[in-house]
Amino acid sequence: MTTLVIAEHDNASIKGATLNTVTAAVACGGDVHVLVAGHNAGAAAQAASQIAGVVKVIHADAPGLEHGLAENVAAQVLAIASNYSHILFPATASGKNVAPRVAAKLDVAQISDITKVIAADTFERPIYAGNAIATVQSQDAVKIITVRTTGFDAAAATGGCAAVETAAATADAGKSSFVGSEIAKSDRPELTAAKIIVSGGRALGSKEKFDEVMTPLADKLGAALGASRAAVDAGYAPNDWQVGQTGKIVAPQLYVAAGISGAIQHLAGMKDSKVIVAINKDPEAPIFSVADYGLEADLFTAVPELVKAV
Ligand SMILES: Cc1cc2nc3c(=O)[nH]c(=O)nc-3n(C[C@H](O)[C@H](O)[C@H](O)COP(=O)(O)OP(=O)(O)OC[C@H]3O[C@@H](n4cnc5c(N)ncnc54)[C@H](O)[C@@H]3O)c2cc1C
Repeated sequence: MTTLVIAEHDNASIKGATLNTVTAAVACGGDVHVLVAGHNAGAAAQAASQIAGVVKVIHADAPGLEHGLAENVAAQVLAIASNYSHILFPATASGKNVAPRVAAKLDVAQISDITKVIAADTFERPIYAGNAIATVQSQDAVKIITVRTTGFDAAAATGGCAAVETAAATADAGKSSFVGSEIAKSDRPELTAAKIIVSGGRALGSKEKFDEVMTPLADKLGAALGASRAAVDAGYAPNDWQVGQTGKIVAPQLYVAAGISGAIQHLAGMKDSKVIVAINKDPEAPIFSVADYGLEADLFTAVPELVKAV
């Protein structure tokens, strides 16, 4: 029994989600291999070989794999799929783009968003926005799985010494081409990797107020900024800050929610945070039901006071 993890990378380094996926792969039992499909991605393959628990890295290199186009990566995975009992992807935008293609081509059911490995064929996954946990058993010969990264600790990025093997790259499928990318640049930690997140909701009232009130707190705490969907939809915060069922799933050490009511779709994205602090002027706000520390206060007074105090 051998498990293949599809690495998420930028050709130079391995993204954090890969490390959590390796932990899930180790829990499946058997050896763990990592596929690095990229272009000029030798450094990423080397980095993958250092991950604790990885036995072998398979490095496929071709121009068509440079940008992680789903058609090409799926073809690369399929070329080696017959060697594996499990194929695991992080449940990120790119993992979720490739995994269903692989599952469909292999004619097996995808097991999505697992948070726990109970046995090699049995997994837990949240359903109904995290309000219930389903235990799923699969009899498929090969299990195609996406891994909710917040459900598993990150494997150590160093300490391993896996062999790196070169695999023949599959031909460019020619079905899609890379046009360009606009990557938001920020000095702040990335939302899904941040240890501290400070999130604002509709109560902020405007982009200007959001920036004026929330940014100093994030700066003081070295935190990433997040937002509710209401705040994003109203244009107070950019799209990629949205936390929740249709945004990002996060589980930082500390999550501060200011002026967020705690709708179930928001809770679905943050309720696994280690410590939750809620600031809301409504004592009945549902966010208080998941908060470790609740402050019933006007955020426009409380947040600046907090900034002064820390
Ligand atoms: C299919 C679907 C998917 C969704 N996905 C997401 C998602 O991914 N993420 C998400 O966040 N939402 C999501 N939503 C929307 C969700 O249902 C809520 O509408 C949204 O989370 C509400 O955002 P909010 O808490 O900022 O606003 P509100 O619910 O309007 O809450 C504002 C809160 O601020 C408090 N407040 C007001 N003024 C102050 C003040 N001065 N000081 C302190 N507190 C104050 C109020 O008491 C209130 O609790 C989704 C909805 C659907 C239907």
